[in-house]
Amino acid sequence: MAFSTLAYMERYDYENLLVCQDRSVGLKAFIAIHDTTLGPATGGCRMWPYASEDEAIEDALRLARGMTYKYAAAGVNLGGGKAVIIGDPRTQKTEALFRTLGRFINRLGGAYITGEDVGTTLREMEYMRMETPYVVTLPRAWGGAGPISAATALGVLEGMRAALQWVFGNDDLEGHSVALQGLGAVGSELLPMLIEAGARVIVGDIDQEKVARATASFDVEVAPDLSRMHALDVDVYCPCALGGTINDDTVEELACRIVAGSANNQLYDESHGARLKERGILYAPDYIINAGGTIFDTDRLLPGGMNPERAMENVRRIGATTESIFRTAEDENIPTNIAADRFAERRITSVARAKAVDRAFTPEMR
Ligand code: NAD
Repeated sequence: MAFSTLAYMERYDYENLLVCQDRSVGLKAFIAIHDTTLGPATGGCRMWPYASEDEAIEDALRLARGMTYKYAAAGVNLGGGKAVIIGDPRTQKTEALFRTLGRFINRLGGAYITGEDVGTTLREMEYMRMETPYVVTLPRAWGGAGPISAATALGVLEGMRAALQWVFGNDDLEGHSVALQGLGAVGSELLPMLIEAGARVIVGDIDQEKVARATASFDVEVAPDLSRMHALDVDVYCPCALGGTINDDTVEELACRIVAGSANNQLYDESHGARLKERGILYAPDYIINAGGTIFDTDRLLPGGMNPERAMENVRRIGATTESIFRTAEDENIPTNIAADRFAERRITSVARAKAVDRAFTPEMR
């Protein structure tokens, strides 16, 4: 199935897609800007060895739209964007590459603000910050909130608890089984939280060192076949690696009661949310429960600047937001991913209306 960029952009009403290239540093990247109604398009910078240009573009677009909804639903005044770099983060990261991308981002004058994502770390954010102020995820010493994955993991845990409460009538993880796919920044923070809460965890990662570290530190099982983690007979399937793991090929194979994880864009497309509902599997919408890092990160934009206590309190509210989305989905008999989208869209529409009123009363017109 060929991917048509413009048709896809039109379908979901994207604003921009920018191509960034610099042969001397080996930079090949795309920046997608989805919607700037609530504020500048913001979203992490991902580095991944994409097999093709189309695959990278599709990922950038899909992720950018996810960010629009994530910020809207989390009550943050930012729009959705994303940058993706084609390259292997283990071997191709250089200061020059990230500084070059930083300069391209700077050219956009604040229309896009970048941050950390899969394949990038705070170190690369420092390089970009040397070239542009439009970097949100930064170390504390650089004025940022520091590492955010612990906040993301906490939000996922809160969302998972809300799902357990909904399905089993109790939010206790004790004795429940969780298939934790991916032991990266988020997965490695979530794992001790799950163990501490008494869950039985089955882990998997393509990086055997991470798996070895997990088995050395915790009493966990290892998934026998990574490509079939989605099909494990567990209470919770927790995707914390890449998106799209719930697709035409996998959706019928899921054997869990709940899907709750940090990965962005877990559903390949909306139809898979509907299919999960038909199959009686509760899906905790990705961008609702993985917003913890975002909420933590952007706390410094609130009155008084960064306040970690307030930030974590807001992260814990993810549980209540998730529950209200389950309720809407049940009341309106719609899949949970659609209930989440409506929740976010309502906020975008109401803020757009408020902004329109504001514009109507600019000083020149009074
Ligand atoms: P990461 O790169 O640190 O970790 C991803 C992990 O997944 C790596 O260890 C990688 O080896 C593993 N992996 C890749 N393919 C796999 C596969 N097929 N099977 C099993 N493991 C595989 O990234 P992260 O920051 O932990 O993010 C994980 C997911 O959560 C991503 O989708 C990301 O967009 C999303 N997310 C992260 C944050 C955050 O705070 N870091 C916030 C919101 C959403």
